[in-house]
This record gives sequence, C-alpha cells and structure tokens, in this order.
Amino acid sequence: MTGQPARRDDVPGHQRLVFWLGTLALVSCPVVAFLIPALWRGNVVVTVAYLVSVVLSAAFLTVAVAQVPAARRRPWLALVLMMGLSVVGETWFAVLDLRSVQAWPSPADPVYLGAYAALAYGVLALDRQRNHRPAFGALLEAGIVAGSVALLALVYLIFPLVTDGSQSPAARLVGTLYPLVDVLLVFLVARMLIGPRQQPAAIRWLVLAMIVTVTADTVQNIIVLTTDTSGFPHWMDLLWLLFYALLGCAARSASISGETSAELVVQNGLTITRLVVLGLAAVLPSVVQVVLAANGHPQDGAYLGAGSLVLLVMVVARIWDLLQQVRRQSTELARMARTDPLTGVANRRSWDFELARAMATASATGSVLLVALLDLDFFKKYNDAHGHQAGDDLLKEAARAWSLGVGPGGRIARWGGEEFAVTLHCTEVATGLGVLDSLRGLVPFGQTCSIGVARWDGLEEAEALLRAADEALYEAKRSGRDRLVLASDLDSEVPDPKQGVA
Ligand code: GH3
Ligand code: MG
Ligand code: MG
Repeated sequence: MTGQPARRDDVPGHQRLVFWLGTLALVSCPVVAFLIPALWRGNVVVTVAYLVSVVLSAAFLTVAVAQVPAARRRPWLALVLMMGLSVVGETWFAVLDLRSVQAWPSPADPVYLGAYAALAYGVLALDRQRNHRPAFGALLEAGIVAGSVALLALVYLIFPLVTDGSQSPAARLVGTLYPLVDVLLVFLVARMLIGPRQQPAAIRWLVLAMIVTVTADTVQNIIVLTTDTSGFPHWMDLLWLLFYALLGCAARSASISGETSAELVVQNGLTITRLVVLGLAAVLPSVVQVVLAANGHPQDGAYLGAGSLVLLVMVVARIWDLLQQVRRQSTELARMARTDPLTGVANRRSWDFELARAMATASATGSVLLVALLDLDFFKKYNDAHGHQAGDDLLKEAARAWSLGVGPGGRIARWGGEEFAVTLHCTEVATGLGVLDSLRGLVPFGQTCSIGVARWDGLEEAEALLRAADEALYEAKRSGRDRLVLASDLDSEVPDPKQGVA
C-alpha cells in the first residue's frame, strides 16, 4: 500500500473508500492465513473468511480502477474481469470443498483459466500502452527466461499428462493449460522487469502480484510432482489472497500516480545481473538433466538437451545483439567527439588530427598544402543586431556553404567561435588560392569574412604553419576585412589582395 493521505479533509470520499478497502483486503490476508491452519479446510467460518477476503480485494480493485483516468483504463478493466471470474471460481471451489466433492477438473477450473486469460490480456495491453515498440533484445531476454521455464513445464508436467491414459481428456486439457498460462505469466514478468526502463509503481505492483501467483502455482506443481497428493499446504492460500490484494494495490497506484510511461534508465549493455539471469535460465534445463541423471533418472534427456541448445542459441543471439548495440553506440560517440554540434563540421580536436594527416599526404604525394583561417567580419555586431539564434544560423549556413566550396581537396573545421580552419591540397598554389578566395563570396545573409592563408613548406611544424595563417588573418582584418591575405612567404606570388586572387 502507498502512504496514508496527510489530512482527511483534503481527500475525496471515493479515494478514502479505496484506501480502506485496500487496508481491509491486505489485513484480511494474514488473518485468514492464521485461521486456516487453526480450523483447516471444510470449515464454513474459514471458507467464508477466505471468500470475504477475496471479495474485499475485488471491491478494492474495482473501486480503484474506476479512478484510473479513462484514457488508460481499458487494460485495468480486463483485470476487473479477471477479479470477477476469480470470485466466481473461488466461490464455486469453496462450495465444492464444503461438500467434500473431489472433482478434477472441477467446474471452477474453466473459470480460473478464464481469469488467467483476462489477466494475461490486461498485462499485455498495459505493456503495449507503455511501450509501443518493444525492443527485439528485451523480447529475446524474456523469451530465454520463459523458454527455460516452458521447457521444464513441457518435460515434467505437460508431456507426462498428455500421455497419461488414466486421465480424462478434460483433465489432460486443463492440466496442460495451467502450466502454459504460468509460462505466459513468466514471460510477461520477465518482459516487464527486463529493459532499460524504470517501471511505474502500478506496473511494479502488478509484477509482484504475478510473481506471487507464479510462485504459488510452481509450489503446487512441485508438490503434485514429488508427492502423490493433489492437495496443497494451507499457507498457499495466503499467496493467492496476497495476489488478489496486490492487484488492487496496482490499480490504486495507477489511479493516483498519473504516471503514464516508464522512465528511461541509462544502461551499459549487458549488466552482470542480466548476464547471471540469462545464464541461469539457459543452464537450468541442463542442471535439472544432470541432477536427474546423477539420481538414476536419465529420462527426457533428449528433450532437455535439445531445449538447452535452443536456449543457448537465443543467449548467443542476445549477446550478439548487445555487441552490435555497443558497437553502434561507440561509433556514434566517436562521431560526436569529432564533430562540432552546432555546424556539423569537424571540431578543433579532430582538425589537429586532420592537419597532421594532410601534412603526411602532402609529403607523400608532393601536392601543395594550403592552410587557411576564416573569420566572419563584425560577427559580434551581427549577433547584437539580429540575436544569438540568427548568429547561430549564420554560422551553420556559412559552414555548410564553405564545406561544399572547398571541394574534394579541402577539409573544413570549426576552429572556435566564428573562426574556421581549412586544409586544401592543390597542384598549383594559384588554383588553391582561387578556391579559398571564392569562399568569401559564399558567406550568407550579406555578411563578409576575412581569410589568412599559409602554405606549408614541407618541413615546418603545424604550430608554426597555423601561426603564419593567423598572422595573415590578423593582417586581413587590420587592412580592412573582407579579403584574403597570404602569409609572408607567399607574398611574392600574390597580386593585389584587394582584387582577390587569380
Ligand atoms: P571581427 O570582424 O574583428 O572578427 O569582429 P567580430 O565581432 O566578428 O569578432 P569578435 O571576436 O569581437 O566577436 C566574436 C563574437 O562571436 C563574440 C561571440 O559572442 C560570438 N560567438 C562566438 N561563438 C558563437 C556561437 O556559437 N554562436 C553565436 N551566435 N555567436 C558566437
Ligand atoms: Mg570575427
Ligand atoms: Mg574571431
């Protein structure tokens, strides 16, 4: 149960009703569980107390579901139906029990199975409501866990039952359907527990409820398998009562929390818990096989072995899927580390690397390498006049135009602020300078830029080369902006900078 409201007067009547019904339902569970061993089955008082507890839980759930916002109510209505069927099934069973009728399957069984179907439908619908596109990997992981349980259920419950000639067809059918429903519930629980999402409180209650009921069914199956009795210990009634009450808690949570979607939790691929769960699920059939063989019961080895192989393939597929995911993430991270987020061109860190590579290429091929620094003119004024967003747009548009303008031999990077750096390979210095000077005409929105260029002499350090380009840029600014200036070693090859470069 979630906490009691702070002040009675603040809480609407229907919510108080939900609260008290929930409290009564939860309190009645241990009371009934205490009564049952004292008086044992077949006693009218105990049976009525048990049924009252079930009805309280049903009322708790129904009133809480009525408070769930209409848009999210549909799956919860399936749970109300489930609860209604459970009340009918439990009452029927109680009547048969009081009359000491030992029927298997009893008329209550189809009703219970109908209740399970409604539960499965409701949980699936809730899952779909939260999560439109379940990830392949999460489905695979849930499939591995449920597959492991399904394999054991097939070998130890379903196969022996369907081949047991002494049982009626109805008994075989009903006896097969119960474990199948449990496998489906295990799949749904795994589906909701696995995945990169922190589930809303309502889903966590629901998962807890399903774990309780699957535990009760599993214990019952183990008792039936290992002893010759079809009865079960009294404390298991507590589990079923708890299951009903927990469903009510889930609905109450959904009615008050207003949570609609799961929160994404960052996960680093295959965590140790997931690895352990997947590993255990995959080896469980083999462990059972080994234990049985050691105890002189090597039967069903082929089924268990084949099933283990399928599970192993699923685990390998999941690990492969996770590795691909990690690979995609690391490629994306590497791309982000190299790229300037605003303009999408290379950032300064990756430009240092580009420059070293350009120098190596120029050495190897003997091509001319020009390094240019481009700086928008009066960009601060532009920012002040049109706003920071417009300044960003100018940077983006200029970067896009320049990236195309430098051609196949050039690489551009954002050097910082409104400055960009370019490396350009060319066969003739004049051709390269022509390309670089043409970049001035590509500045959008009627703005201009200044460019400083240096030519690599094949020996100097990157730092010295950049310093030369920077000095040339400074000279371009100083001498009036909107022009290209060459570092001093190129001066002799330059016509009048004001007229651009040939
Ligand atoms: P000059 O012609 O001398 O280069 O003058 P300027 O105004 O272009 O140069 P200055 O260095 O005075 O100002 C650069 C401005 O660039 C200052 C800063 O606010 C702006 N700036 C730097 N990075 C960004 C950015 O990412 N977006 C925007 N909108 N503005 C930026
Ligand atoms: Mg500037
Ligand atoms: Mg600047």
